[in-house]
Amino acid sequence: MNVISGSTSDFLHNNVKVLRSRVSKTAWQGIVIAVVALIIATLAVSQFEHGNIYLSSLIEVQKTNFALWILNVVPFVFAFWGQYSSTVLAYEASAMVMDQTQELRDKADSFEKQARHSITHDLLTDMPNKELFYDRVQQQIVSPRGRSAFSILLIEVANYKEISDTLGRNSSDSLIKKIAVRLESAFPTPLTIARLESNIFSMLINQPLAEKEILSLADSVHRVLHDAFLIEKVKLSTQANIGIVHYPNHGTDVDTLVQRASIALYMAQNSNKGSAVYDSSFDAHSPKQLTLMSELHHAIENQELELFYQPKVRTQDGVLSGAEALVRWNHPKHGVLAPDLFIPLMERSRLIQGLTCWVIQEGFTQCAQWHQQGLDIVLSINLSAKDLNNPELPDLISGIKGATGVNPQWITLEITESSLMTDPEAALAVINRIHAMGFQFSIDDYGTGYSSLSYLKQLPLKELKIDRSFVTDILQSESDAVIVNATINLAHNLGLEVTAEGVEDAATLALLTTEGCDLVQGFHLGRPMPESMFTQWAFGRS
Ligand code: C2E
Ligand code: CA
Ligand code: CA
Repeated sequence: MNVISGSTSDFLHNNVKVLRSRVSKTAWQGIVIAVVALIIATLAVSQFEHGNIYLSSLIEVQKTNFALWILNVVPFVFAFWGQYSSTVLAYEASAMVMDQTQELRDKADSFEKQARHSITHDLLTDMPNKELFYDRVQQQIVSPRGRSAFSILLIEVANYKEISDTLGRNSSDSLIKKIAVRLESAFPTPLTIARLESNIFSMLINQPLAEKEILSLADSVHRVLHDAFLIEKVKLSTQANIGIVHYPNHGTDVDTLVQRASIALYMAQNSNKGSAVYDSSFDAHSPKQLTLMSELHHAIENQELELFYQPKVRTQDGVLSGAEALVRWNHPKHGVLAPDLFIPLMERSRLIQGLTCWVIQEGFTQCAQWHQQGLDIVLSINLSAKDLNNPELPDLISGIKGATGVNPQWITLEITESSLMTDPEAALAVINRIHAMGFQFSIDDYGTGYSSLSYLKQLPLKELKIDRSFVTDILQSESDAVIVNATINLAHNLGLEVTAEGVEDAATLALLTTEGCDLVQGFHLGRPMPESMFTQWAFGRS
């Protein structure tokens, strides 16, 4: 039985009062009936024995008649029985209700707990996921106790990709599970161990330890993972690399700490020890990308990002039909940076959500403005692979749509085949919700992924974009020409429009036009341009 807390016992008392008053009412009715019966009986006996109903006769029969004595007791019996049974009944009934209520509450609590758990835990290992880990680090930073130092270890399973490529997903999943079990049993709470990425674990050491102690802890991690794992009767050895950062020396916010731990991890990969503590001198030796990473999260607030627009032209009549928004980073030191340099880094952290949000906001605003000015074109916006796993994306898009007044028919969202692969069902749900608002979808870089046609058929697509790599060599390579031709036919059979990207010369454009390709995009038609240049260029054509 459940423990009844203060407020529930008040509730029980109230219930008992209500039930008791109902049972007492019945008992009172019994008493009244008994008293009325007693009066009538006394009157009847007096009339029968003395021929009148004077008071003296009534007293006399009450004194002498044995049957009336018994009748006299009945109201008292009713009163006692009423009191007793009402109390017992009321308590029993109320306790039953309480039990059932408590049971329902317990069930609801456990469902809620399960739901909360799955948001903050990794599905495969049941360890805390990235969100929970970042949250714990954040709590450590803001808690009064947490003003003291702590450390973070990033642990990479170095040969994970080879194992996954050679033995398949099931084996690499079992390996990760076994690694998780070893780590958790070797380093129990209060240490937090989380799975941040497919092959990267993180450990939060929430107390100030000397450098020597941290390094010896990293050595223990190496030892724990050193012995071979038995996966489907195959013995597998793994190697780990560990990057270490200390708060507050190496950073005072979660993103900086994790980014610097990645730099330390990179140094660890190239050292023979397999562990490295972050040092600012690493920045000079680590790839430019890793130092960029620490500057990335200021890029949006410092307004260093800019959208360039590349025209999309109809092959039939050469009319400008749309533009693709392509992001650039105006870096204060390195100048204009192409997205390939920083988007993959953003995808590794949570920053990509902020970037996508910024691109959508900026793109929708610009598109609405063009339409106001009379430039009737469709704007294509790239979604990142991670975006389709974000269940909040439809609401975000809906909000920005409302704020900017953009008509969804003016927007096409470009997604890649690979972005659909991680969790196809969840991706499909997100896509369908956005499509229901009226937005169009396009498959970008078509031909580079492995999506099955049957899966593509389920998607509400409007367009297929043939990847640049097939288009560039179409004049020289017979096989590329065949692929492009087949793709155009396939897309048309599915009722889709086809765009060829990377059209760099007139001859390629001519061939694509005869093949029946609907739209073209590439340096031959126009390079990606800053907004003012694109707008001027577009109005100059019309
Ligand atoms: P993408 O979506 O395939 O974009 C087309 C890329 O091809 C652009 O590179 C464009 O500049 C380049 N390109 C266009 N025409 C030609 C041509 O004729 N020849 C050659 N050689 N290249 C051409 P960019 O702007 O560097 O973008 C690279 C990738 O970065 C994009 O590939 C896209 O996947 C990603 N990206 C760009 N902007 C965004 C964005 O706002 N969000 C997301 N998630 N990804 C973006
Ligand atoms: Ca694209
Ligand atoms: Ca593309």
